[in-house]
Amino acid sequence: MRYLMGTFLRIEALHHGADAAERCLEEAFDEVRRIEGVLSRFREDSQIYMLNKSAHDSPQHIDIELFYLLEKCIEFSKRTGGAFDITIAPLTDLWRQAERKGILPEKDEIDYLLSQIGYQEIILDEDARTISFKNRHLKIDLGAAGKGYALDRAAAVLKKNGIEKAYLDFGGQISYIDESNSVEYVGIKNPLRPEEVMTSLPIKNQSISTSGSYERYFEVMERTYSHIIDPATGRPVDNCILSVNVIGESAMESDMFSTALFVLGLDAGSRLIEKSYGVKALFAVRENGKANFKKGGVEIRCVN
Ligand code: AMP
Ligand code: MG
Repeated sequence: MRYLMGTFLRIEALHHGADAAERCLEEAFDEVRRIEGVLSRFREDSQIYMLNKSAHDSPQHIDIELFYLLEKCIEFSKRTGGAFDITIAPLTDLWRQAERKGILPEKDEIDYLLSQIGYQEIILDEDARTISFKNRHLKIDLGAAGKGYALDRAAAVLKKNGIEKAYLDFGGQISYIDESNSVEYVGIKNPLRPEEVMTSLPIKNQSISTSGSYERYFEVMERTYSHIIDPATGRPVDNCILSVNVIGESAMESDMFSTALFVLGLDAGSRLIEKSYGVKALFAVRENGKANFKKGGVEIRCVN
């Protein structure tokens, strides 16, 4: 287990030979550490930090890996009608500041930042492989996709080294790889009582990502607010969704989907899932003070 990207990454892998297994795990952890060094918006030597500092002044040349990662995020923003937006960072910062000060942000401040951000403000130049921002307030935050990407990369490193079976748990997002296609059941928490496991979902060479407001949130004036911001309002999401679990083949895609579906809510979220190939979602919805699980609009289980 290692502390990476602000949380713990635990990997269990089946390999013939203890030394070789140890080396494979180290290589997977190193890969995630490398990705953290590229994507962290708080580390002064990261490419994202450099972009957030300079991409409004002039186009910045970036590695091909980051270029395609950002391109994927922008494509996904379009697919979700803007519910997923990596330029939400100035608003996340505003809400974090509100938590520190103990006062809610002013409506004018929110509206102003909202008018300044948006994935459409990012310019990607494929030929020059540069990125620039149209707006001086723009900042990128890959908090909703980075861990998923890192999980995909870690799994790829394990597979490359001949690992046939592995279980990776990255702060609650889980990937399970197994060449023999066996099924692993992942426990799903009750978002109103996270110590309680409500149900379990099967995964098979897939990843499951959860977005919820029960572990990470802003607290202002004794009220908690979701850490996920609705790009349509600039405010923390405040709908009846308690958590969303998404299963997909790609950990990055599952990660992005869970955040987007949390913003979209049950109806629009279910519609998006229905037309998306290879991903499934389970919503936990607050109804009469209880958490009810819904799958594409169909209730599957009720909790007291
Ligand atoms: P997750 O826990 O994967 O749902 O990601 C939540 C994190 O993504 C937040 O802590 C923010 O850093 C960032 N974020 C918040 N709102 C959005 C949004 N609407 N689109 C993309 N990223 C977001
Ligand atoms: Mg996410």
